Amino acid sequence: MEYAGRYAPSPTGRQHLGNARTALLAWLDARAQRGRFVLRIEDLDPGRARRLYETTVLEDLRWLGIDWDEGPDRGGPHGPYRQSERHDRYAEVLARLPTYPCSCTRKELRLTASAPHGIEPVYPATCRDRPPSPARPLALRWRTPAGEAVAHDRFLGRLHQDVAREIGDVVLQRGDGAYAYQLAVVVDDAAMGITDVVRGADLWSSTPRQVWLQRALGLPTPRYTHVPLVLGPDGDKLSKRHGAPEMVGLRRAGVDGARVVALLARSANLCGPAVRRVRPRELVDDFDWARLTEPGATHVLDLDGLRA
Ligand code: GLU
Repeated sequence: MEYAGRYAPSPTGRQHLGNARTALLAWLDARAQRGRFVLRIEDLDPGRARRLYETTVLEDLRWLGIDWDEGPDRGGPHGPYRQSERHDRYAEVLARLPTYPCSCTRKELRLTASAPHGIEPVYPATCRDRPPSPARPLALRWRTPAGEAVAHDRFLGRLHQDVAREIGDVVLQRGDGAYAYQLAVVVDDAAMGITDVVRGADLWSSTPRQVWLQRALGLPTPRYTHVPLVLGPDGDKLSKRHGAPEMVGLRRAGVDGARVVALLARSANLCGPAVRRVRPRELVDDFDWARLTEPGATHVLDLDGLRA
């Protein structure tokens, strides 16, 4: 099957260098495979998504030299490419799954949910068999079937989870009507023919839920690559504390995008330590995921190198 990859940012803020590295790696994999690359805007949350941030994402990517074949600005055969314009598709799929309304408040969930198995509290199925309180906004939960969801990740290996037991019945639509990320991403990856999902390692824990939904819906499971997160100069996960500039700030300060690409590529061992400027297309021919696990890949951003 022809390779199709995607970058799927949520336009809820300005992009930082970690986002840029994920985008670069997803793009490189797609281009190295002579594949299609989709830009999908995940503006599901009406309270947080802003069109201004979407515009900024597109400008950031262009400045870096990352292009896309399908996206909100240029259309394509699998559009629309904004999740806010795909609600009818999510509604249709949601109607095919066994769900029930849930009126639990956040506070109730905090009090009743337990977290014995993992990082997220398990929903105790409070509303599964009781009539929900009509006075409250209702979320929709999937009667999540028992069994083990298994996915394979290029870096993390076998990911597995008994979603029903370790997460509980998954929310597919929130009380305010917003569709859940887990549902939208599964619907869209399938509808857009995505064969390869490359995204940040912080999202790995969503993958078994997505695989479980794909199975329930009879949809194919893409290949997954959760890329290591970038680190600050002290080796900790990159954060504001490190003073890492946002992309838009670098752009407006007149920094050459090729310098930023070189910084990102050096951290991933995709170019030599002496390379100061490089365009993404110059990295395509030698791109190889194996380089990210060699000792040269520090995943540390040389922020001083950027300023110098
Ligand atoms: N929209 C998600 C984010 O920006 C990424 C979703 C994905 O790649 O599956 O964190």
